Amino acid sequence: MYEGAVQDLIDELGRLPGVGPKSAQRIAFHLLSSESADVSRLVAALTRVQESVRFCVTCYNVAEAEQCRICRDPRRSDDVLCVVEEPKDVVAIERTREFRGRYHVLGGAISPIDGVGPDDLRVKELMTRLMDGSVKEMIIATDPNLEGEATAAYLARLVGPMGLAVSRLASGLPVGGDLEYADEVTLGRAFEGRRRIDA
Ligand SMILES: [Zn+2]
Repeated sequence: MYEGAVQDLIDELGRLPGVGPKSAQRIAFHLLSSESADVSRLVAALTRVQESVRFCVTCYNVAEAEQCRICRDPRRSDDVLCVVEEPKDVVAIERTREFRGRYHVLGGAISPIDGVGPDDLRVKELMTRLMDGSVKEMIIATDPNLEGEATAAYLARLVGPMGLAVSRLASGLPVGGDLEYADEVTLGRAFEGRRRIDA
């Protein structure tokens, strides 16, 4: 529709999640009319993310060092491990201040329709972490939707024989929803009221 560079920018923006063609066009023209210093800051932020952000070698949260800030924090408990789908879920749970254990980020949820199975997630890595017996409780905090429930059931069955307590966040979370959109109070309560899963 537009010439060269402008259309390339619109196309790239349109590839981002949640950005439709109309929004892509609006953002592109906003950038075109912005101060060049503002655009430079955006470019610098993108470059920095690409160059310096990676995944924590222990929990697969986003990190700027080999390990993320949470894994490096000696004040946090090694007894409780909270399993989530994405790094954004770690942020959501941290906001509640209810949890002082460690995390494990799966990198998604089991979804047969999308062709995502356990082998596509960091399940093997989770099992390796549980092997040394230091984790006494595993809290499964996958999203309260079909994929999240399927993943929770799968994990509960898998770790059942290892003898650690397995719990799932309590109800009160909107069913079919996304963890990151739950408000802090609801998510905090769900944490307190987590229930034991008997595999
Ligand atoms: Zn980490």
